[in-house]
Amino acid sequence: MAWKYEGLQKNNTDYEYTIKFNEREHQLNIHLCKDGERYIPQPNGNTIGIDVNCKHNLFSLSNETTYDYNRKLVNDFCNLSLEIDKLKKQNKEYEIGKRKQQKLDTLKSKMAMSEQQLIADMCKILQSQGVGHIVMEDLNNGFGKCYVKDKDNSDINYNRKVKFLGLSNLKQEVEHIARKYDIAVSTVHASYTSKMCPVCGCIEDENRPNQETFECIECGHKDNADFNAAKNIRNRVCVTVLRESLLKQLDNGAFEPKKLKHEKVKEVLLSFRRNLQKNARSKCTESRLTTFDYI
Ligand SMILES: [Zn+2]
Repeated sequence: MAWKYEGLQKNNTDYEYTIKFNEREHQLNIHLCKDGERYIPQPNGNTIGIDVNCKHNLFSLSNETTYDYNRKLVNDFCNLSLEIDKLKKQNKEYEIGKRKQQKLDTLKSKMAMSEQQLIADMCKILQSQGVGHIVMEDLNNGFGKCYVKDKDNSDINYNRKVKFLGLSNLKQEVEHIARKYDIAVSTVHASYTSKMCPVCGCIEDENRPNQETFECIECGHKDNADFNAAKNIRNRVCVTVLRESLLKQLDNGAFEPKKLKHEKVKEVLLSFRRNLQKNARSKCTESRLTTFDYI
């Protein structure tokens, strides 16, 4: 006898389906298996912080490497979307034609594929470097870090581009792919990661003289702004006192932010800073400041 298989679609990347055909029993068994429940890696090896940003590079890492998305593809998609918006504005009755819709859909799926490829490439390299744990900002509470106008499509604002790039799902995407490379993913609060000095703990708007640069007004520490943010993101997990105050541990050993108000997060960071200053005074040595208590 023949069983007919009718297009079972796997549209959630987090689920896997197994179909068993049992001819003897005249049974068809379908197993739905959530990937994460089968295997979630434990954080091990080295820890890397990742700053996500669509202005300069999609990913800036605390080890000072970067990975960027396919800008041509994204710009083509943004421009076509803008063109359609304009036509809709001119004529309320406007309906998108079949060819245009197809073009839009193709660009969209190419974008998704190239993003997945980028994450896989990054994870592969990190795995080869002994990284078993990556830390990202919690992106669920919006992406309002800054409003950026891109010179390639000046009409697209940052939030819209974030939406186009699907960055709000990025954590799930990274988590899903990283798992295949035995890399665990933690998240931390996004607050003050771009303004904080990882050396002396100073948190000021003035530490960012421009989009590209971090320069601490207290101790003069200077870095690329995105790498600096990535290092702060990493420190939230690697510095014991920050980790214990701000994060909670999940079953697999990775971390996620405790539910804390913005002000509370700042309070924790400021008290960390006071301790750094106290230590510096009692030890009377500058170098002590850069020696964080890493796990
Ligand atoms: Zn500083």
